[in-house]
Amino acid sequence: MTEENLTDCNIIFYCKDCEEIVETNRVGKKYVYTCKKCGTKNVAFGTQKSISSFFRLDEPKPGEKKTIAK
Ligand SMILES: [Zn+2]
Repeated sequence: MTEENLTDCNIIFYCKDCEEIVETNRVGKKYVYTCKKCGTKNVAFGTQKSISSFFRLDEPKPGEKKTIAK
């Protein structure tokens, strides 16, 4: 993924600490993003589809707590 694609694609940010989709602040000129909620850099980004798939966001099972793959 290139930097130019970030605003063109449906990119979302996922904070591994908050364990949810979050908004981010970009750090300087680097490809580093911090979570607006908790402030860590423990943020993954990708398309809605890839993030949902990787973190299993779209697979909540009834009566079962959502788990995060590490
Ligand atoms: Zn966070």
